[in-house]
Amino acid sequence: MAKILVVDDAKIMRMSIKNMLHDLGHKVIGEADSGYSAIEEYKNLHPDIVTMDITMPQVNDITDGIEAVKQIMAYDKNAKIVMITSHGEQEKVIRAIQSGASNYLLKPLKLDRLKEVLDKLL
Ligand SMILES: [Mg+2]
Repeated sequence: MAKILVVDDAKIMRMSIKNMLHDLGHKVIGEADSGYSAIEEYKNLHPDIVTMDITMPQVNDITDGIEAVKQIMAYDKNAKIVMITSHGEQEKVIRAIQSGASNYLLKPLKLDRLKEVLDKLL
């Protein structure tokens, strides 16, 4: 069982991811709706894994999920972050991985694929 922080600007997407994580036996210890609050919550909660949406509205100087990855990795070089991405975001996925993200998943999320990626990180 992992303690997971779920980051997405869409509440319905966060709910969907939370339900899947619960089904897999993991514990969602926090949620964030922007890259900025993701960084804050990471520092507060120290989750085992973060699921990180790429495209979110800018809050303060944090423009998107990639910027949040950079800041979280600078804070904790062992952070485990899985990007949640849409079709057409390949270039952003590459930048996220180069910035330290561990892996990525494509929307719509599939339970077996989510399990596979999380199992690899634990
Ligand atoms: Mg989004």
